[in-house]
Amino acid sequence: MDDDRSILATHGLCRDFQGFRAVNAVDLAVAEGTVHALVGPNGAGKTTLFNLLTGFLPPTAGRITFAGQDITGQPPERIAARGIARSFQVTSLFAQMGVRAHVELALQAREGLGRRFWRSENLMRRFSAPAQDILAEVGLADLAERPAGSLPYGQKRALELALALALDPRLLLLDEPTAGMGLEDVDRTVALIARIRKGRTVVMVEHNMTVVGSLADTVTVLQRGEVLVTGPYEQVRSDPRVVEAYLGA
Ligand code: ADP
Repeated sequence: MDDDRSILATHGLCRDFQGFRAVNAVDLAVAEGTVHALVGPNGAGKTTLFNLLTGFLPPTAGRITFAGQDITGQPPERIAARGIARSFQVTSLFAQMGVRAHVELALQAREGLGRRFWRSENLMRRFSAPAQDILAEVGLADLAERPAGSLPYGQKRALELALALALDPRLLLLDEPTAGMGLEDVDRTVALIARIRKGRTVVMVEHNMTVVGSLADTVTVLQRGEVLVTGPYEQVRSDPRVVEAYLGA
């Protein structure tokens, strides 16, 4: 049964790896315009769930609906074209390539112009202004010409966000957006996500409960592949099952 406000929903979603059930009968309902955090101990199935949502892995059983359409089993590019973007990983940046050039490339990819990329400098120029706007949105406007490899870690992660935003997603999936960051970068990232969430729906895997508390409208706690509890942050954090399984660890 779908909640009318759900932009993304899963129904009995399962994924097995050689007989081991990593995601088990997960029902998720993500309301449009909200930030929905997925938390849980290591091995709970968060990454596998993300891979199912983005089409990187097909589910063993169950269904996924997005914006009223069944997207179960669709390949990653079809799902991305429907408006689901996942933040890129720092490891996928090209060290020598400029910061803005990364965003220009992502904007081209969105238009399906990749084949012509190598032929036309003009094409790149077409995307310069919108790329610069996106960099301004994530606070990297002044670093547009720098090689991506020269950025400090926190700014590399901001560039990842810029690449996801270049796809103009309705749903943004963020995989541990503050992982490995110092306090200052964590604060900066929280402020950034609070800005870019406007007009979008965000699902994020996040270990830092302060970050979850600042950003998330709804929290789903996963344990051993199953949903342990879902609800507003304040309710979830004081749930005895959660305290025992995760927060109290
Ligand atoms: P989390 O992201 O919450 O730490 P994962 O989704 O990475 O959890 O993993 C959930 C479980 O599935 C773990 O027990 C993990 O070992 C297992 N798993 C994940 N990916 C694979 C894979 N490709 N092959 C076999 N087991 C996997």
